[in-house]
Amino acid sequence: MIVNEEAVKKVLNDVKPATLVAATKYVDAPELDKLEALGVTIFGENRVQAFLEKYEKYHGNAHWHFIGTLQCNKVKYIIDKVELIHSVNSYKLIDEIEKQAKKHDLVMDVLLQVNIAQEESKHGFAAQEMDQVMDYLKDKPHLHPRGLMMMAPHIEPEETRQYFKATKDLLTALTQKYPQYQLTELSMGMTNDYKIAIEEGSTMVRLGHALFKEA
Ligand SMILES: *Cc1c(COP(=O)(O)O)cnc(C)c1O
Repeated sequence: MIVNEEAVKKVLNDVKPATLVAATKYVDAPELDKLEALGVTIFGENRVQAFLEKYEKYHGNAHWHFIGTLQCNKVKYIIDKVELIHSVNSYKLIDEIEKQAKKHDLVMDVLLQVNIAQEESKHGFAAQEMDQVMDYLKDKPHLHPRGLMMMAPHIEPEETRQYFKATKDLLTALTQKYPQYQLTELSMGMTNDYKIAIEEGSTMVRLGHALFKEA
């Protein structure tokens, strides 16, 4: 696919005040410069191999986020290249990010992925588990939790509203309980449902199809 310039301009305006994370898996590296020229400042990749290929080829100023399922053995390839990992979904992954970030002497900003609709098929911590996760992070100084990420179920967009609301409520509760962290970010909303996600408090929408068209 290629960048749909008109669509990108409109989306950049529509998503305010949320931040647009362009899900770049649908396009090759040369399209990234076009996105940047239009004002997109954050690219999100969901596969490590594809990310590394584009990272090598791209020489612009946009920032990189990792948004997809991350295998523990691949953390080492991305740890010094991305600014935010949206998809922290297990204790093992927390351990590995802590280990690799420490090795590189950096603090990694992360979002905790929550399986808010309790779907068998989805990754993420259960909402009821979040206190345990926060406790686990106490002695992980190289991870800086910044908020929550969720993937809505594949249902009618309007039906997803309840899950966006529940995620926002969970973030609000955690913010009050753990003021030592700056838990301000809510990564939720994709092409089908981002308008609803923003209405319910999303601060980062991850959009792919909305930005591109067939060549
Ligand atoms: C591809 C992808 C998106 C964007 O999906 P669209 O429906 O194309 O907007 C968002 N989040 C993740 C994790 C993705 O892999």
